[in-house]
Amino acid sequence: MISNDGFLFIEPGGAPTAPIIDDITRAATALLRSATTGSVRYRGQHQCTGRGCNAMSDNADHYICYGKLTSKIVTHSLIVHYVACHRDEVPADALLYLGTLTALAESTQHELTGVRTRETRDGSKVMR
Ligand SMILES: [Zn+2]
Repeated sequence: MISNDGFLFIEPGGAPTAPIIDDITRAATALLRSATTGSVRYRGQHQCTGRGCNAMSDNADHYICYGKLTSKIVTHSLIVHYVACHRDEVPADALLYLGTLTALAESTQHELTGVRTRETRDGSKVMR
């Protein structure tokens, strides 16, 4: 969604689904990776508002090219998570836009889930 508030600043209400891995998700991943990171670092992070969701944003704004706009617009680090795990709550115009993009990239587990994990000595993974 394009607005003065930026791209995909949504507040999901439902629980996250298993990640949907398709070209929409790959387009969001490539778009986020192409972003310019703002110089401001926030003291906190944003937690996804989805019911029971543990996804956390990073602490920066990200600026992306959007359509024919000559200036970049702001977005955040959870856009891949939103299109992968809260697809039914992503505005249709955002999905349509992502569907027009030709740059695609495979998402990391962290980009999909918004959860950073680390491996313990016994090989299991725990949230950081
Ligand atoms: Zn979420």
